[in-house]
Amino acid sequence: HARYMVACDGGRSPTRSKLGIQLVGSTFVERWLIVDLVRTENRFRHTQVHCDPARPCISLPGPDNIRRYEFMLRAGEDEKIATDETFVRNLLARVGPDRDCEFRRVRVYTFHARLADRWRDGNIFLAGDAAHLTPPFAGQGMNSGLRDAHNLAWKLSEALHATTPADFLDSYEVERRPHAWEMISLALRMGQVMMPENATKAFLTRAAFRVLGLYPPARDYFAQMRYKPKPRFRKGLLWPDGRNDKVTMVGRLVPQPVIEDTSRDRSLLDRLLPDRPVVLIFDEFPDQVLSKDMIDTLTAAGAAVVGMTPEWMNPVDGAFAVYRDVSRLFSAPQMQAYLGHALLLRRDRYIAAAVPVGQVAELAQRITALGGERPLTAPLPVFATAS
Ligand SMILES: Cc1cc2nc3c(=O)[nH]c(=O)nc-3n(C[C@H](O)[C@H](O)[C@H](O)COP(=O)(O)OP(=O)(O)OC[C@H]3O[C@@H](n4cnc5c(N)ncnc54)[C@H](O)[C@@H]3O)c2cc1C
Repeated sequence: HARYMVACDGGRSPTRSKLGIQLVGSTFVERWLIVDLVRTENRFRHTQVHCDPARPCISLPGPDNIRRYEFMLRAGEDEKIATDETFVRNLLARVGPDRDCEFRRVRVYTFHARLADRWRDGNIFLAGDAAHLTPPFAGQGMNSGLRDAHNLAWKLSEALHATTPADFLDSYEVERRPHAWEMISLALRMGQVMMPENATKAFLTRAAFRVLGLYPPARDYFAQMRYKPKPRFRKGLLWPDGRNDKVTMVGRLVPQPVIEDTSRDRSLLDRLLPDRPVVLIFDEFPDQVLSKDMIDTLTAAGAAVVGMTPEWMNPVDGAFAVYRDVSRLFSAPQMQAYLGHALLLRRDRYIAAAVPVGQVAELAQRITALGGERPLTAPLPVFATAS
């Protein structure tokens, strides 16, 4: 008798099949041999990519000295032969010192690059691999699934607690789908680099990365995957502020600075924000810019009001708590442009709207549209485990 169901039943999702939802996207299909070792002899701390056109291979370090090797299989290669111990040990011998290590797991996986053509059927939602399948090169499959859960969980909670508009939950797919596909596309592009078609391309790729490795900013850019597209929404439960797409903060995660309260105690912003929409007043004098009536209006609509001063101003509490941005994340040009603004944060900490503090009244209706803390219409079921 559940009101909603989230089908996170994996890449072969029986729920997706039962609903007749198709997978669409790229025709990419590849088989890779995955070898997990109990204890590696390889002391290299980072991921290694062997751009060998004959047998592309990636090896990834894990905790407690484990290591994973991924070898691409050719179209005609038989799965039984590929998982044969001698075959696997010969492959390992070509890429490092791990030929004789103990195996934890040897398996062939088939990777796809596809999206479910719709992520919702009535009150059933697809999430994780059931909704999107990616090759592993960017290491983002599970991360995308976590982002799905982060996006959908608070919306379902609102839908259970309050009367939300009929299309409220549609925003889940509207917001998540483009980024899930961006991550899949990134993995495909990384795969092209990791799997050069011939010896010349392999040589050029290796040479290019050797040169880039000599220049620390370029090395860090690649090592820390700064080219990875950050999640951001252009459509969904948000109200664009008319700024250029490149600079607007609406639709992006609010920065996570270390903040300081009036007693100089420090914390991370997330830890202090309550689990409800928040109107964040980013101003040199947050305690002075809102009337009591305005604060009452915003809180009655369901938001908490919190103040934030830039790094150079000491905070003073008013009718609400005010903090100082110690780590200067709000002083970066893109954020500092919002000094003197009220930011409306959703429960998942994405910025849904931004208005000059003088126009903060405009946010009241938008807070209501995001849900917020309201009385329960019906008690939530309580699950207890037998002791
Ligand atoms: C070799 C390899 C390397 C990877 N590397 C990375 C990486 O580095 N980083 C990363 O982020 N991701 C990586 N991934 C991807 C990541 O593992 C998946 O994206 C992630 O596990 C998907 O999680 P999920 O919960 O959606 O699906 P799954 O992990 O597949 O879980 C689905 C679960 O649903 C259960 N289930 C199915 N049907 C039913 C049913 N009818 N009733 C109840 N339960 C059911 C299944 O038993 C399973 O436990 C990798 C994947 C592979 C194969």
